[in-house]
Parts: sequence; C-alpha cells; structure tokens
Amino acid sequence: MSQQVPLAKPDLGKLEEQYLIEVIRSNQLSFGPMLHAFEKHFTKRFQIPYALAMNSGTSALHVAVKALGLKQGDEVITTPYSFVASANCLIYEQVKPLFVDINPENLNIDIDQIEAMITPKTRAILAVHIFGQPCNMREIMRIAKKYNLYVIEDACEAIGATWEGQLAGTFGDIGVFAFYPNKQITTGEGGILITKHKHIYELGNSYRNQGRSISNEWLLHERVGYNYRMSDLQAAVGVAQMERLDEILAKRNQAAKRYIQLIEELRVPVSLPKVAKEAYMSWFVFVVLLHEKVSQTRVIKKLSACGIQSKPYFPAIHLQPSYKSLFQYKQGQFPHCEAAATRTLAIPFFNSITEEEQRYVLQSLKEAIKTEGIS
Ligand SMILES: *Cc1c(COP(=O)(O)O)cnc(C)c1O
Repeated sequence: MSQQVPLAKPDLGKLEEQYLIEVIRSNQLSFGPMLHAFEKHFTKRFQIPYALAMNSGTSALHVAVKALGLKQGDEVITTPYSFVASANCLIYEQVKPLFVDINPENLNIDIDQIEAMITPKTRAILAVHIFGQPCNMREIMRIAKKYNLYVIEDACEAIGATWEGQLAGTFGDIGVFAFYPNKQITTGEGGILITKHKHIYELGNSYRNQGRSISNEWLLHERVGYNYRMSDLQAAVGVAQMERLDEILAKRNQAAKRYIQLIEELRVPVSLPKVAKEAYMSWFVFVVLLHEKVSQTRVIKKLSACGIQSKPYFPAIHLQPSYKSLFQYKQGQFPHCEAAATRTLAIPFFNSITEEEQRYVLQSLKEAIKTEGIS
C-alpha cells in the first residue's frame, strides 16, 4: 500500500513546454510550421518521402484503408490479438477482416497460416507489430508480392523497432504510428501515416482534410473526407518528443532489460514473449505471460491492492461483443490468440520507472501468483 505504481506515465518536460508556448504565441494553431516540423521528423528519421500527421492512430489507419481504395467486398488479412483499432479501420469501410491466429511465442500474426487464408477477394495484409516487436516483414512482403496484395503496417506500438535492421513502418505501402499518452512518445492524442507513394500521400492528405482537392484549391472538395487534422499544439509536443526519441527508447530498453533480469533473479513464475533474433524491439508495454492455471483477474486485483496498476493486454478482438455480433465469431476459432488473451498481463512500465519500483512490482506479482497455489 505504501507505493502507487501506475501502468504508464508520459515523459514530458521543459522542451515540450517550450515548443508548446512557441505555438501559443505564434497564433498558428493548425497547419502551421510545427505540424510541418513534426512530419519532417518522420520523413527524415524513416528516410521516406511522405508523412501525414493526424489526430489519432485510428484516423491514420482509416485514411490508409481509404487511400488504398479498399471497400465493401474486399478482405484484409490481420491479427485478432491487437488493440481493436487495427480491425475497426476495416469495418469503417465494410472491408472484411480475415483473422489469422498468432504465433504463441512472439504473439504476432502466424506467418505460416497466412497463405492458406488468401482468397480472390483478399486485397491486403494489415500487419500489427504487437507490443513493439516487428512481424517477420521479409516473409510478409514475400507473400504480398506473390499474391499482389497491399501491405499496411500498424506500427502504432513499434516506433523505432527494426526487422533485420530495417525500421518497422517502412516495409509496406503504408506505416502508421500513434501517440496516445501510453505510447513510447505522445502528443496527447495523435497519429501519423508514412508512405513512399506520392498518390497515397496526396489522397491521404485530402482525406484527412475534408476531401479537399489535391491541388488544394480553397474549399473545393473532390471527395467526402474527414477532419482528421492534428493541431500545431499537439505537433509541438510531438516535435519535442521526436527530438528526445533516442533518449526515450534507450530508457525504455534499459527498464525492460532490468525487468527481464529481475524476473530471473527473483524467480517470478511467469514467462515472456520471445523476441526473434532478427527483431529489435521498441518497448511499448511490458507484458508477462501467466501460467494458464493462474487467474489474470485475481492477480490484477491483488496487485491493485498493493497500489500497482496492471491490465490484460490484449483481449481477443474476435470475441469482443461488437465483432461477435457482426461476424458470429465463437470461442475456439483462434486458440493461440485466446490463450494469450487470458494469460498476458501488462505491468507498470514507463521511462522513469525505478529499479525499486520494478522490484516492488515483481515481488508483489510473485506473491499474488503464489496465493493462486500452482507454483
Ligand atoms: C494505439 C494503437 C492504435 C491507435 O490508437 P489511437 O488511440 O487511435 O491513437 C492502433 N493500433 C494499435 C495496435 C495500437 O496499439
């Protein structure tokens, strides 16, 4: 009870304040130089020609689907083990998600099951780099090429992660990142789409701004678009966070490595998702796998009584009431995803977490598991 350890905590400081004040004093709160600077950070860091910042990761995913022209009757292969937004962006356009079960070791889509799912209606693969570990993008790109499919990378949890040294988000036709407060970097709310294709950039730019004409003629709307714009106030925080990205990723890497060591040292009876040797992980959350006989709900309650916040990450998308009612999914259809959903637990993880806090979390977790009576 002595301590309070939250699940996540944003890391905002003087630089964020300074840029925010700059925007406030500039009177340019939308489509100003700060938004441009934020996008520039992405094109530079990812060595990619185009970036479109938006008001959420979900908006950026939706624009990705629109810009690729995906529509009713099309199918897109994706994972049921994710934040619901990665499938919702398809539903918005009446595109059918074709869920493929996950690899139980790394919790990403099971590459070996993808090809068998492809039908003549399949148009794209939407790969999610779960918890910051990239999917095997080499294989996904090979399959996409063979079947002539688009690739969207939901890299919302994976900024800075690499597969065989290449940055997640730069393999496919479109990569998307998100900046909700629990993400590696935040703008309060926000997202960004990156692409190497000029036509996707132009269409995406139009869709995020009410379908404005590509020539940007004043109030000429060529298509029905959205207001998915990011304000310069958000971008100001984003620019500061991007300038600090390497520092932030290093801190998270350090904290994650410390958790891994401490789990061993304290003999906490949990296992960890495996990181492939080709993958460099960008740590989004820290997730442990409980023994299958341990109750996730009871462990969360017990940790909460110790002032420690923890959450089940992620529940299976196909078993969400919204998806069950749309597609009549049933328990048992994606067994690895369902097993992971009942076993994975996110424990407190943020840039400034101290070793003392981590020890406290793990000791409390060990204690909570012990009272379950299985280890
Ligand atoms: C955070 C996240 C998103 C986007 O979420 P927003 O809250 O809309 O920014 C999309 N997909 C995944 C996998 C995410 O974790």
